Amino acid sequence: MMKKLIITVRVNEYVSRERNKHVPFTPDEIADAAVECRAAGASIIHLHARNPDGSPCHTPAVYAEIVGKIRDRTDILIDSTLGVHTVKEDENRLQHIKLMGQKSRTRPDFAAVDTGSTNMDTYDPETKTFKTVNKTYINSTETCLFLAKGMTASGVKPHLSIWAVPFMRMTGALLDMGAIHEPAYVQCVLADGWHVGAHPGTPRGLEALIDFLPANRRIEWTVCLKDGNLMNVAPFILERGGHLAPGLGDYPYAEFGYPSNAQLVHRFAELGRAAGREPATTDEARVMLGISKET
Ligand code: ZN
Repeated sequence: MMKKLIITVRVNEYVSRERNKHVPFTPDEIADAAVECRAAGASIIHLHARNPDGSPCHTPAVYAEIVGKIRDRTDILIDSTLGVHTVKEDENRLQHIKLMGQKSRTRPDFAAVDTGSTNMDTYDPETKTFKTVNKTYINSTETCLFLAKGMTASGVKPHLSIWAVPFMRMTGALLDMGAIHEPAYVQCVLADGWHVGAHPGTPRGLEALIDFLPANRRIEWTVCLKDGNLMNVAPFILERGGHLAPGLGDYPYAEFGYPSNAQLVHRFAELGRAAGREPATTDEARVMLGISKET
């Protein structure tokens, strides 16, 4: 039997509802999306807390409220952001994980560690200018170590976001020194639309990353695609044994009629089934990723 498919739904990031009206903001909206996406075949939800007007929210109590509301209604695994784009200080970035760590029910199962630095600026070929010129996304080695060790100590599994080959090499070092444990959960971040700081959303763009997965390690890897349709790369990902991380947070999916997150998950689940990769249940995803049931 072929390996089960873990679908992570990336429901909102910090995108506007002008892109797709189904992007959830409030804890109740995010919990609704979690329930619907779980039913459609997702076993992990990646979320960002938002204020009711959609602006970024960094209040630990709101993160705890979201996690609690999701856990009340579904068994989906929860992957929370650290608010990295707007909260600079490492200690603050880990704040909601640490505060929630006391009570396992409101602690997420995963949180993101980006294992390197890159430029987030996008180029506009029409005007031949960059839209921004100073959006650097800095994750020093010190930050990576602090976050990886802090999460591991709190019982939260790091999801390691990989934007380029050096991020993969840092992942190998973190495994080698025992700062993170196997099986590692790696998320390859691809980007279309002239994001020059990431690999393009094509099979070759992805292959250049997974060629450098740390050797002889137990790793499950998934792929997200910013500003592009993950369907374009999904057949290659399924064939190579990877997992899928679609969502309205990355792309509005106009070509599918601006679907909800759950409708999008349904499409990717069907694609997986057609390729012999049945969507994993939450318990199956736990086993594959080494997440204990107590968390
Ligand atoms: Zn995110």
